[in-house]
Amino acid sequence: MALPDNRTWFLPTGNLPIGTMYCIGRNYTLHSEEMGAPHTPNPVVFIKPPAAYMPTGFTIALPRFSSNVHHEVELVLVVGKDVWEVADDDAWDVLAGVGVGLDLTARDVQRDAKINGDPWAISKSWIGSAPVSPIVPLSESGRGPWNLRLEVNGQLRQQESTDQMERSIPHLISFLAATFSLRAGDAIFTGTPHGVGPVVAGDVVRASLDKLTELTVRFA
Ligand code: MG
Repeated sequence: MALPDNRTWFLPTGNLPIGTMYCIGRNYTLHSEEMGAPHTPNPVVFIKPPAAYMPTGFTIALPRFSSNVHHEVELVLVVGKDVWEVADDDAWDVLAGVGVGLDLTARDVQRDAKINGDPWAISKSWIGSAPVSPIVPLSESGRGPWNLRLEVNGQLRQQESTDQMERSIPHLISFLAATFSLRAGDAIFTGTPHGVGPVVAGDVVRASLDKLTELTVRFA
């Protein structure tokens, strides 16, 4: 299969090279509860490489090493400038725009990794595991909150307001910047609300962020 040309965020304010994707786990209480996961004072963070990104309209090949891939709909923030340390009050200024994405997760592989104390990389970071909608500049989107919505084959599976996140967007930005630095083109997946579930070959998943932007992908 040919590799997709998937290296660029296209924005009216200037295109950006897709960088590291930082993902926040356990950021909505009801999802933590459905996973049976304990509350942690600091955010759970993992990373997807740029090759995990896919644009809307693509068909995503489910990984052969898993028989249970789950959808997780998430607000995605795209970073517009390089920062190391940033105050919460200045954190919104770091962002170029927002979108909606899927943190696709090989749940069976992740379960085994949790049991064995292994990293989540294979379960979370395979090629195609991070499809994202077109990005809306912050000047158009405002600062939210927004409604996240996900349908599988036309059936509603996840719906929640981003105001239910346990940690604020400025806090996530300042925490990640102080820990890793953030570079223009990096992205932040802000965690999924409850209602995660499996996708199989032939499914069509549509996700949206209010009426601002949407993502449609098919699975094979
Ligand atoms: Mg997630």
